[in-house]
Amino acid sequence: MTVPLGTLPAQSAAARLVGGTPLVELATIGAGLPHRVLAKCEFLNPAGSVKDRIGHHIIRRAEEARLLVPGLSTLVEATAGNTGVALACAAAGRYRVIVTMSSKMGPDKEAMMRAWGADVVRCPYDVPPTSPESFINTARRIADETAHSYYVDQFANPWNREAHELTTGPEIIEQTGGQVAAFVAGAGTGGTIAGVARALRAAGSRARVVLADPAGSILADRLRGGHEPGRGYAIEGIGGDFVPDLLDPQLLDDAYEVSDAESISMCLRLQAEEGLWVGGSSGTAVAAALRLAAELPGPRSNIVVVLPDGGSRYSSTLFDPSWRTHRGFTTKESAR
Ligand code: PMP
Repeated sequence: MTVPLGTLPAQSAAARLVGGTPLVELATIGAGLPHRVLAKCEFLNPAGSVKDRIGHHIIRRAEEARLLVPGLSTLVEATAGNTGVALACAAAGRYRVIVTMSSKMGPDKEAMMRAWGADVVRCPYDVPPTSPESFINTARRIADETAHSYYVDQFANPWNREAHELTTGPEIIEQTGGQVAAFVAGAGTGGTIAGVARALRAAGSRARVVLADPAGSILADRLRGGHEPGRGYAIEGIGGDFVPDLLDPQLLDDAYEVSDAESISMCLRLQAEEGLWVGGSSGTAVAAALRLAAELPGPRSNIVVVLPDGGSRYSSTLFDPSWRTHRGFTTKESAR
């Protein structure tokens, strides 16, 4: 039986499972380093990524602001996939969801979004952000053309950052007893890193906030005041060719660039050595966290790193040996 849209209550079982994710030490990968590396396991959220936090929070806020009417409204969003899955989960039984996604992203997250009932529109990857064909401008156009639409606009929506300021950040402070020497994360919209940074600052923490950026993205370069053009890279969901509104440079202390090969190797190591099957952006963040752990002065403390999503979302790409061979990723770990 199909339940008519709009008849289900806002507090679904999934909504009650968002957040409260474990923080686990990477004791094998981090062995011998002067600091502990602690991983925030965001892939354990109900629909499988850090974006569950913003999916549920933004919908709740938009309902409070009467921007959404259950059974009538359609959510429209541009996504690397995880926000689409999260919105579809948070909207279940209440709203229709249409997402746009660039052709760079692998097929696994598209299949998941379709499984959740979302409509997925693919857009070309190799166009500038200003192109009407870009995934963001396509989402804007669809929102304009769709009756009763709500364009989520995660790249500029302050409720995205607020979700992390109210939940992810305070959880990290509580789980570490406030002992955080550094916080490391990638940035897609910047919501995670900016929200956690604000929570840390508000709690009086002096933790270093460090961006993990894929080599080829412009974000790390722009933070240093550079003007290098962007290049394509394989890792999905982080970095980019424009600086999102939510990524306030004032909140960041440093940035590390990580190559695709290093990110992928780190994903394979996390799986083989820690039993954690996580996505490419987790590999990028952990690679940066290990570099920082080796360099950071001061007494032994905690470096917290975010694992945004799970590896099953990349079964057809990073975790497929033939995909890696075809793309030329044949480092020792990635050749296994
Ligand atoms: N990792 C992955 C796989 C993602 O999809 C995203 C979001 N696009 C992030 C990390 C970064 O999260 P944020 O948008 O909060 O910066």
